[in-house]
Amino acid sequence: MAPVKLTDTTLRDAHQSLIATRMRTRDMLPIAEKMDEAGFFSLEVWGGATFDSSIRYLNEDPWDRLRALKKVIRKTPLQMLLRGQNLVGYRHYSDDIVVKFVEHAAESGIDIFRIFDAVNDIRNMEVSIKTAKRTGAHVQGTVCYTVSPVHPIPLYVKMAKELEEMGCDSLCIKDMAGLISPQNAFDLVSALKEEISIPVDLHSHCTSGMAPMSYMFACEAGVDILDTAFSPFAWGTSQPPTETTVAALRGTPYDTGLDLLLLTEIKKYFEELKEKYRGILDPISERIDTNVLKYQIPGGMLSNLVSQLKEQNALDKYEAVLAEMPRVREELGYPPLVTPTSQIVGTQAVLNVLMGERYKVVPKEVKDYVKGLYGRTPAPISREIITKILGDEKPITCRPADLLPPELDRVTKEAQALGIVKKPEDILTYALYPAIAPKFLRGEAKEETLEAPKPNNGKSAPLPTEFKVEVDGDLFNVKILSAGGGMSVRPAEAAERPKTVDGAVTASMQGMVLKIKVKKGDSVAKGDVVMVLEAMKMENNIHAPHAGAVKDILVKEGSTVSAGDVLFVIG
Ligand code: MN
Repeated sequence: MAPVKLTDTTLRDAHQSLIATRMRTRDMLPIAEKMDEAGFFSLEVWGGATFDSSIRYLNEDPWDRLRALKKVIRKTPLQMLLRGQNLVGYRHYSDDIVVKFVEHAAESGIDIFRIFDAVNDIRNMEVSIKTAKRTGAHVQGTVCYTVSPVHPIPLYVKMAKELEEMGCDSLCIKDMAGLISPQNAFDLVSALKEEISIPVDLHSHCTSGMAPMSYMFACEAGVDILDTAFSPFAWGTSQPPTETTVAALRGTPYDTGLDLLLLTEIKKYFEELKEKYRGILDPISERIDTNVLKYQIPGGMLSNLVSQLKEQNALDKYEAVLAEMPRVREELGYPPLVTPTSQIVGTQAVLNVLMGERYKVVPKEVKDYVKGLYGRTPAPISREIITKILGDEKPITCRPADLLPPELDRVTKEAQALGIVKKPEDILTYALYPAIAPKFLRGEAKEETLEAPKPNNGKSAPLPTEFKVEVDGDLFNVKILSAGGGMSVRPAEAAERPKTVDGAVTASMQGMVLKIKVKKGDSVAKGDVVMVLEAMKMENNIHAPHAGAVKDILVKEGSTVSAGDVLFVIG
């Protein structure tokens, strides 16, 4: 038995789990040097949702964040979470994009790549693993841990052996939902230590409350690395606390040897910082929720689900959506719930509940998943569900990325034509987020304002009050979100849209218009795709309800719409 090392996740997973990935770079930099002194195995600072959140909500360049942290953190390896062929996006990218992204991430400061695939299909991890190895980085091959009738221990061991054979330098058990029990942690780590020789890392979440006990049992089975976060950003749907873990292991053979006094100084910084984010800290994410043992929702997903339902004004459907999730998961072949499968299962469950009919609306990503474009599902999907979702189309059997032609040339040209390429990585940002990157790269995005803390822990937030305000001839809707002073302003365009017109098609949920496929005057057949709406990070086709001519289009590509807004009118 040897000392255990710690990976601190405060700057990535912890704030992704508790405050919907909203921590700003300017809040990380002042403490980064001290964190570097602490002696962690690594600091997880990048990847996961940090990339998306930076450009979507924070008006921050994620590449700049990485380089800024690298400048200050000189000793401790910087680690990122990479979703294999999905990189840090929500679909599979072609191999040339994957290669370019991994190379550029390594150049920009990533030392350790933790690489996983949501359905544990190694074919989706091959290219990123090989590329990361070629850059000289440490590659941590990952198995996504879940509990289901089709996930016995020998399956994980088999996958871990394959990852070791591919050259991975360490292995991570990624228990994103905090499902691993102490006994299962002991059995799995023991089995892995017997069969593979690379170090084993256990990554868990406190969601169910079991993680600290599971960490202890993992230590007894010989685990090499544990993932923790500083206590103000620990517990709840986040990792077990760093300081507590260090103190608990003192005097045992697994003693981390880290300096508790220094850790306490760092903790103090995060304690004060947490107050700044208090307003977006959802009490649901902060508590232990034993429901996870039944629903298997990973940490980040719970807080996202809450904010999605809030956006759709449907927070009262929370319990119903939680109950729908395991049903959808079983029907989709028991995927581990982690991005992007967590979004796929979660969004479908939300739609099944909100639409009042199961699989009435099926986003493109769910269809692609059922088609096999995300990889082999852990269990086969029944013919009935396949037909319901795909109609006559047949699922694929090859490595999904084999079907993707090289994209790098095309997106490079597109990005250049848009005039948004100022530095090489802008092409990658555009390749991953073509809908939101142009606005961001043009400098037109705005950092969202932090809501003021909610009174009484958010239990009695006052009802929103809306005003119309005219500024220089432009009408704005001003919405007072809380008595504490949080405010949202958006152009009144949306409010001016007619709500009751014959043949009007309205948005069924809050989202952004991604594509408009017709022009005014075009004739359409019933069922034609008129628009693509991005809602809950998924693409949803909006169909013509009947045949006719397009009489009016009331939105533009890039417009934000609310549920009930008229999108277009078919005569
Ligand atoms: Mn995690």
